[in-house]
Amino acid sequence: MSFADLGLSPKLLEAIAAAGYENPTPIQKEAIPPALKGSDVLGIAQTGTGKTASFTLPMIERLSKGRAKARMPRSLVLAPTRELAAQVAENFEKYGVNHKLSMALLIGGVSFGDQDAKLMRGVDVLIATPGRFIDQFERGKLLLNGIEVMVVDEADRMLDMGFIPDIEKIFKMTPITRQTLFFSATMPPEIQRITDQFLHNPIRVEVSRPATAATTITQNIVRVPGKDDKLKRAILRELLRQDDVKNGIIFCNRKSTVDVVAKSLQKHGFNARPIHGDLAQAFRTETLEKFRTDEVQFLVASDVAARGLDIPAVSHVFNYDVPIHADDYVHRIGRTGRAGRKGAAMMLVTPADGKHYDAILKTIGAEEIEALDFSKFFDENPVQESRSRGGRDAKGGKNAKDERGGSRRSSRRSGRKPEQSGDASETEVSQPEKSLETAAPEEVENAPQKSANRRDSHGSSRRRGGGDSRPSRRRDEAVVGLGDHVPAFLTREVAR
Ligand code: AMP
Repeated sequence: MSFADLGLSPKLLEAIAAAGYENPTPIQKEAIPPALKGSDVLGIAQTGTGKTASFTLPMIERLSKGRAKARMPRSLVLAPTRELAAQVAENFEKYGVNHKLSMALLIGGVSFGDQDAKLMRGVDVLIATPGRFIDQFERGKLLLNGIEVMVVDEADRMLDMGFIPDIEKIFKMTPITRQTLFFSATMPPEIQRITDQFLHNPIRVEVSRPATAATTITQNIVRVPGKDDKLKRAILRELLRQDDVKNGIIFCNRKSTVDVVAKSLQKHGFNARPIHGDLAQAFRTETLEKFRTDEVQFLVASDVAARGLDIPAVSHVFNYDVPIHADDYVHRIGRTGRAGRKGAAMMLVTPADGKHYDAILKTIGAEEIEALDFSKFFDENPVQESRSRGGRDAKGGKNAKDERGGSRRSSRRSGRKPEQSGDASETEVSQPEKSLETAAPEEVENAPQKSANRRDSHGSSRRRGGGDSRPSRRRDEAVVGLGDHVPAFLTREVAR
């Protein structure tokens, strides 16, 4: 099936060809025809599947007829993060080159003033993060009765970030006659409830998730005896030095850990950069660009920062921390082994991770993930405190034999002498990290879920005191400027 078979117009087909795409991806094949007909679509797909084009293409087609009126956007795309919103904007730019659609972007780091002017004139497409959108609405700058199409992208991430009450509110503010295109990688009950309530006879389109499809991903763990961060970093370095590691993303659960691990790797001569929500937007954009162009080999990332980003396939994913939500494991490892290429995912598992590790096994339907043999490494790198405590494995010793289970790769690697790991400079970055339980919520990118759920049941108390207590919003507001990455349409004059 070609793009032409999907019912797209010649102008769009030209833009698609110019983008270099030959055939539609499965989600595009299934979602575009009903979306073109005006049906609601519930797309269960995650980034990397081509889902963005599956809603931007039919939207461009629909919006090419008619024109926007002052303060009345004709369509609204809600994305959980600035990067995702900017990516959606770039998609509209790319596929809309032969159309004269006007666009505005309401995200942290893009000045309200410029976007205000565009909104005043009227835009065909408004792309926003939910918080920014509501702020703008509450300032009386928007009339929503002209919304013909509404898109919710990465809904499950919105749930994690505490945006679901906002999404509900926005659904209620937009005309019931709107067409809704709703995308989520997973369908937890809260998301199901929203789609049941606000979508009208949606066409459900599901493309397989990486963990089920990714026979190309080799998964391994390393059992770390004890909760010793210094040891974890030494093991990580050992993993990064494997011959077949071309590039990789190292996932940590906390932003503070991202910083510590990135700094440590840099000290040890690795070409690594951190990315998380507290870093300035310009730095994040630059880091991603450098990673894309192979100037940076390793990205040390938090889930929220990395989620949904269009990063080309990496050879390896390293889970420095066992993710707290099992679904995040699926998202993380889905960063490798894309498009039929081979990929490897490795995870450090400490005895304290038992519960979360078990949840991951359940999610991916595995009895066990094969443990790499690090016995020689441990022999050569005596672990002071944690090892003397007995070196139990992550499941309390049950799988101790796995440590000796034998991986060709790790046995080969573990022949290195300790000094070659360059541990000397470790002390400078080995400040103790707070445990997850004691860390401030904003330090834990996954933590908003708990507070978000609490907010769910207590309504919109977040507005009290004039502030906005959403951690994700704080991240938004901490940032100024999109750096070099300002989408071109933002700098263009609106000529309407
Ligand atoms: P997405 O899932 O929307 O984040 O898209 C993932 C990547 O696939 C992006 O780099 C898109 O530009 C690319 N892409 C989207 N559609 C196609 C297609 N039909 N053929 C090849 N690449 C595509």
